[in-house]
Amino acid sequence: MLNEELKEKILELRKKGYGYTSIASVLKVKKDDVRNLCKRYGLDGYWYSLNADSIKIVEKVKTCRNCDKQIIDNNSKGRKRIFCSKNCRLEFYNKIYLRKKGF
Ligand SMILES: [Zn+2]
Repeated sequence: MLNEELKEKILELRKKGYGYTSIASVLKVKKDDVRNLCKRYGLDGYWYSLNADSIKIVEKVKTCRNCDKQIIDNNSKGRKRIFCSKNCRLEFYNKIYLRKKGF
């Protein structure tokens, strides 16, 4: 079992972007314990190779609804972009339009 001090250290390292294996070897604990703890705190999956800064970036990255290309939305004001380009927006609405008409 992990004591409170170890738990804190694990979560701290995890938030910095360390993988389960690195944390386990640095703190000399079982990899399974690390994984279970991280899961409980919602720090599994995507956190694997991320640090706090890149997580902020990931939140800003969206994908185009038409072609799935990444959109980086730097403009926090105004309307949220959901397409990468005007063409994609047109294409997307055309598809909906055609579907409604039964094509
Ligand atoms: Zn697109």
